[in-house]
Amino acid sequence: MTNLPQALREELAESLELWTTEIVRHTQADDGTEKLLIKLADGGQIECVLLRDKVRRTICISTQVGCGMGCVFCASGLDGVDRNLTTGEIVEQMLRLQQLLDEGERLSHIVVMGMGEPLANLDALLPALEEAHRPDGLDISHRRITISTVGLPAAIERLARTNASYRLAVSLHAPNDQLRNQLVPVNDKIGLDAIMQSVDDYFAVSGRRLTFEYVLLADVNDEPQHARELAQLLRGREALLNVIPYNPVAGLPYQTPSYQRQVQFRKILEAGGVRIKFRHRKGDRIDAACGQLRRSQQSPPVVQLG
Ligand code: SAH
Repeated sequence: MTNLPQALREELAESLELWTTEIVRHTQADDGTEKLLIKLADGGQIECVLLRDKVRRTICISTQVGCGMGCVFCASGLDGVDRNLTTGEIVEQMLRLQQLLDEGERLSHIVVMGMGEPLANLDALLPALEEAHRPDGLDISHRRITISTVGLPAAIERLARTNASYRLAVSLHAPNDQLRNQLVPVNDKIGLDAIMQSVDDYFAVSGRRLTFEYVLLADVNDEPQHARELAQLLRGREALLNVIPYNPVAGLPYQTPSYQRQVQFRKILEAGGVRIKFRHRKGDRIDAACGQLRRSQQSPPVVQLG
């Protein structure tokens, strides 16, 4: 703000806080992925990530400190949820990550797939995403913003009513309620029928292809029978299935399926007519999967930097 007198600028710098957060750790992987561990004003810690893929510059942001959904394989929810982030704290992650870009790089996509359940904090998230969308903000179009949810039907319906232009991703992880109740405990009170109904409604309003996520856990949800059931569930829907081979979390008993097992899973779904993508593992050497960096800081560090 060089249009202000020097003395006033100094006074402003001294008396006003521009940032409420502090970067406690910044890690970088060979593939260009960068991750920030951020400390909030009250001491809580959250993570956010910058991913580089050809010309794409995607940021992954958090919406809560911890997570209350309790998915059994995920590091973020191991200690439950502390609190929702504020709109300001969500925007600050975007700005901190934007500052990591080199000259000539431009943020192109946002995925709300960091710590927390975004649909449990829509009140703070929606204004933050609007800020990102504004032409005088980060100028990122709605269709390049993906909100990932465990599947909360009431909130999906609310999103459909308020702004259905975001891409919606639903974390399925199981093709039936019996298995999903074990992996995603909140499913017990919700059920797949209600979730599929709400995403179909969202699709009817948005017209945007749905994404379903499926974390592949060895000998848990990677059987041929699961793949066939999943194909059945997704049949007839305008959908993309994103399969994420499990990213192991220290202290948890789950494992990544072998390559052959992944190929077998993929083939069955393809034969069943499902559009499927295996998500590349990026940044796993810097603990870039949900809540892992924060945990490795709490206990003695387990993994070295990339
Ligand atoms: N609560 C939201 C968003 C955060 S989690 C949701 O459930 O979608 C984002 C995605 O990462 C989810 O699909 C989640 O199941 C997945 N995930 C969590 N831990 C993982 C791990 N260790 N390896 C691979 N994927 C993981």
